[in-house]
Amino acid sequence: MIIAERKPFEEVKQEVKDCKKLLILGCGTCVAVCMAGGEKEVGLLATELRMANKLAGKDVEIGEATIQRQCDREFIQPIVEKAKQYDAVLSLACGAGVQFVAEMMEPLPVLPGVNTRFIGVTQAEGMWAEKCLACGNCMLADYGGICPVTICAKGLLNGPCGGSNLGKCEASPEKDCAWELIYARLKNLGKLDNLRNFREVRDYRAHTSPGRVVNEAYQKAQPEATHSK
Ligand code: SF4
Ligand code: SF4
Repeated sequence: MIIAERKPFEEVKQEVKDCKKLLILGCGTCVAVCMAGGEKEVGLLATELRMANKLAGKDVEIGEATIQRQCDREFIQPIVEKAKQYDAVLSLACGAGVQFVAEMMEPLPVLPGVNTRFIGVTQAEGMWAEKCLACGNCMLADYGGICPVTICAKGLLNGPCGGSNLGKCEASPEKDCAWELIYARLKNLGKLDNLRNFREVRDYRAHTSPGRVVNEAYQKAQPEATHSK
C-alpha cells in the first residue's frame, strides 16, 4: 500500500489560511490503514482546525467527508457536487489521489494534507516500512523475495558492499543489511545457487515516468460488454 504521513499542522494551517469554507476529504484505503488520512484523521484534523480558528477569532466552516478511494473516478464522482459548496478541498489522500480529485473538481483548489512517503507494509503496530520502489522489472524471484533495489541502501544487485556490521547496514546502522537477509532467505529456501547468477545493471528504462499501464484485453472487451447489455 501507499504509506503517507500527515503534514505538520502549521503547514496545513498555512495552506488553508484564506478559506472560509473548507472540505476535508479523507481516503478510506491506504492512508486510512497507515493512520494518515482516513475518516478518523479527517475528524481529528477538522477538530484541530476548528479550535485554532476559534482561538484566532476566524469564522471558517469546515466540512468532513471520506470516500473509499481518491484514485478511482467512481468514488470521487458522488462527492463532486458537495465539494462545489466549498472554497477548497483539503485532501488527505496520497499525491495520486490529490491530483485525481483536483482533475475531477477543477477549478476548485485541492490541497494536500499529507506527505506521500513510499510503497510499503505495516511492519508492526504504528510502524510502516518501505518494500518496493516500483522499478518496473520485478526481480524478487532471484532474491528469495527480498528486494535489493529497495532494501539495500545502495541498491546492489550482485552481493553486499562489504560494509555491514553485525548484520546491520553501514549506511543506516539501525537497519538490517539487505544482503544478510537475502543470503539467509536463499539458504532457507535451498537456493543459494541463485547467487552465482550475475545480474546486469538495473534497466532503468523499465521505470518510465509518468508510468502508464494499459490492459488491452480489458479495453477490447469493453465495447462487447456494452453491446451485450
Ligand atoms: S524488484 Fe522492483 S518491482 Fe520488485 S519489489 Fe523490488 S523495486 Fe519492487
Ligand atoms: S551494508 Fe548491506 S544493505 Fe547496506 S549498503 Fe551494504 S550491502 Fe547494502
